[in-house]
Amino acid sequence: MQKDPVCGMQVDPAKSVGSSEYNGKTYYFCSASCKQKFDRDPKQYAK
Ligand SMILES: [Zn+2]
Repeated sequence: MQKDPVCGMQVDPAKSVGSSEYNGKTYYFCSASCKQKFDRDPKQYAK
């Protein structure tokens, strides 16, 4: 399981609705809106 960096939910990468790469790391999201928020301002969410 991976942590959705936007809302903090645990996300199964196989079932995630989307993923984004940032700084060489892949992030997975529980919903399209979480992915959109991340893509808009990844540095705010990426650790
Ligand atoms: Zn989420």
